[in-house]
Amino acid sequence: FTPGVEPQPTWCPGCGDFAVLKALKGAMPEVGRTPEETLLVTGIGCSGKLSSYFESYGYHAIHGRSLPVARAAKLTNPGLEVIAAGGDGDGYGIGGNHFMHTARENHDMTYIVFNNEIFGLTKGQTSPTSPKGHKSKTQPSGSAKDPVRPLTLSLASGASYIARTAATNPRQAQEIVKEAIEHDGFAHIDFLTQCPTWNKDAKEYVPYTDIQQDDEFDFDVTDRREAADMMYEAENRLYEGEVLTGRFYRDEDRLTYGEEKRKTGEMPADPLAERYFDEDAEWARTADELLGRHT
Ligand code: SF4
Repeated sequence: FTPGVEPQPTWCPGCGDFAVLKALKGAMPEVGRTPEETLLVTGIGCSGKLSSYFESYGYHAIHGRSLPVARAAKLTNPGLEVIAAGGDGDGYGIGGNHFMHTARENHDMTYIVFNNEIFGLTKGQTSPTSPKGHKSKTQPSGSAKDPVRPLTLSLASGASYIARTAATNPRQAQEIVKEAIEHDGFAHIDFLTQCPTWNKDAKEYVPYTDIQQDDEFDFDVTDRREAADMMYEAENRLYEGEVLTGRFYRDEDRLTYGEEKRKTGEMPADPLAERYFDEDAEWARTADELLGRHT
């Protein structure tokens, strides 16, 4: 991103990715964080372009690796607002291991997964969230297996905030993105983003039901068991073509990974990133010596 130059996204017309950018742009002023206080890390895919279009620090990581980069940034500079983003293949497939363990360790960040049920950038291959029977170039007779269940996987792994929203619901999307950014801990959003170019079935994302606005879904978002039942129901209905969106789980009491480590003394209270600018710090001297600056 170049300050003062409005980037022009190259996503296809009608792509759901525009809705994620819009939700982020709408949410950040409400959260009160400036571009200089924010880092957006993306993986590979159409979703990866987000870090080039959003006004903040950006880092375009390799496939499936946005979360390790985001974790390192947050641990060394806890004052930074860290947001990671990527597609369903990037996050639930290639980077699935990082997803599980970043959730388990409750790293303080927001993770937005653009879920369009295919690999978009590479022209529509079957992805971890493609429905059973979905036909693509890689599985022309139809996907043989049931897809990943992102919400229940996230809960089982240990995420402390879990929500699903859809590109077709910009008002709810902005509210959920804001809430996730304000959450202290690992906040995961499964963001349904249609790909009209390679997945015409994406029309199933319209219409949706907001579970917070419908009396049929009366459950406690802070209760793991009730949240698990609600997520399982939502995932089943998605595979049948009905979309349930909203907040599914929130735990505001668990310490984040950084808080735990600072509490036990394993990590210093002052940010490592600031030590880099302290010429007297032992850590900085070591780095300089490694880089040969004092030879
Ligand atoms: Fe969006 Fe699909 Fe086009 Fe990628 S290929 S920009 S996901 S519509």
